[in-house]
Amino acid sequence: MHDAIVIGGGISGLATAHALMLAGLDVQVLERQVRVGGNAITDRFNGFMMEQGPTTFNASMPDALKQIDRLGLLKTAHDLGEGVKKRYLLNQGKLTGISTNPLGFFMSNYLSPQARFSILFEGLRRRKMDKTEETIHAFATRRFGREFADKVIDPMAAGIFMGDSHQLSIAGAFTKLHELEQKFGSITRGILAAKRGSEPGRHLYSWGGGIASIPAALAKRLGARIHTGVAVNSIGKTSTGFQIKTSAGTRAARAVVLAVQPHVAAGMLENLDPDASIVAGDIIAPPINVVFLGYKQEQVAHPLDGLGFLTTRENGKIISGVQFPSTMYQGRAPDGYVAISAYAGGARNPELAQMPESDLVAQIHAELSDTLQIKGAPVIHRTRRWALGLPQYTIGHRARETVLSSTSERVEGLHLTGNYLNGVSVSNCMETAGQVAGKIIDDLEQPTRQCRASNSG
Ligand SMILES: Cc1cc2nc3c(=O)[nH]c(=O)nc-3n(C[C@H](O)[C@H](O)[C@H](O)COP(=O)(O)OP(=O)(O)OC[C@H]3O[C@@H](n4cnc5c(N)ncnc54)[C@H](O)[C@@H]3O)c2cc1C
Repeated sequence: MHDAIVIGGGISGLATAHALMLAGLDVQVLERQVRVGGNAITDRFNGFMMEQGPTTFNASMPDALKQIDRLGLLKTAHDLGEGVKKRYLLNQGKLTGISTNPLGFFMSNYLSPQARFSILFEGLRRRKMDKTEETIHAFATRRFGREFADKVIDPMAAGIFMGDSHQLSIAGAFTKLHELEQKFGSITRGILAAKRGSEPGRHLYSWGGGIASIPAALAKRLGARIHTGVAVNSIGKTSTGFQIKTSAGTRAARAVVLAVQPHVAAGMLENLDPDASIVAGDIIAPPINVVFLGYKQEQVAHPLDGLGFLTTRENGKIISGVQFPSTMYQGRAPDGYVAISAYAGGARNPELAQMPESDLVAQIHAELSDTLQIKGAPVIHRTRRWALGLPQYTIGHRARETVLSSTSERVEGLHLTGNYLNGVSVSNCMETAGQVAGKIIDDLEQPTRQCRASNSG
């Protein structure tokens, strides 16, 4: 019998298993696909490098950063290139560059004078006293005004979650903003206070081998503990732990960690923990389409001097967000070429999952051509369609998280980890994995400690 079995070899599962391995536990990882990494897939072709899923590692979370360092990845990390000078927002066909300094919005004329004036008074608005959960849009409107909510916060929600700011919960999805209001009474005051404190830097990292360098480094350390091409079919509770039925036989473990997508977890939990199963099944993850396009540099008139752009909603337009990978990091396009990644779908346009690929690429190329003054067809394009995209932290998500993170209180040894708990980013997943591993280590060591205590007593 193993100490722990982790089901799912995405970043969450691998990071959990690695922490358990470092604590000296006998841990095994079972992954359905032939490769590990989950949606962290870096693809190379014709001198281009495409990220099919995540592009960046956000270095602002201390434990995740420590894990990256422990994997030897901190010294090889690439920060954003010097060409990233602005963040762009696209509204009604007009692309506006916002400088990354705090006065960016005031210096640009993206927002009307009234909207900028309204932001100035955020610090004077009263904190929300009642405890009803608010959407991101309602929160932003109350604190900063409607125009800011529509033209800045809604595009951010689409960019980060491929979500809808009218459905996402402020406490669940933008927890830090919610906490700043609770703690400081105002976001502006909170941000100013944080700047005086020792908040880690806001770096966005990647590597020469792309984001897949993270699962690759974890897999190298876990070695033969990983079993790919093994799908878990069911989990049963026994008197000593769990019996896990897979496509390659049955395994037993004292603890089990479900590091799979929420709908998969819902199925596995049906008989084990029905409450958690229902809650996990309620989490939606609308489909996402990633279209990567390569152009000769001279085809693109725009300098691509930013991270990319986010968009406000516009009838008939489908792009939610765009990244300029060849500006962000080296090695994303051959010399003389540029790479552009466009994201479409999510909660704004889930129906795009049905759009034929050729139409999708054609429409995205047409929208990009208008916005970035591109002449001619792309020299190369690739599409990745995620049938299930990012979990949506809609109203009620905090309550769902409470049920899902307490499975071990109802079923001893049963743990969940993944991007539907405590944040969707790669670094969120690694932080959550570290916390879950800590809990398992404590639980598994408890009988040993109790035994040691009774022997010494
Ligand atoms: C298009 C896109 C862009 C993104 N961009 C960013 C970004 O720039 N920065 C960032 O920080 N984050 C980004 N994210 C979010 C981040 O990539 C994910 O939240 C994170 O990688 C999820 O990791 P995970 O391990 O929790 O889940 P997954 O990667 O989904 O892994 C789950 C694993 O479980 C396996 N599995 C499922 N069923 C079974 C079974 N029955 N038996 C065994 N194994 C099973 C699956 O095969 C999979 O490997 C992006 C995500 C997407 C989709």
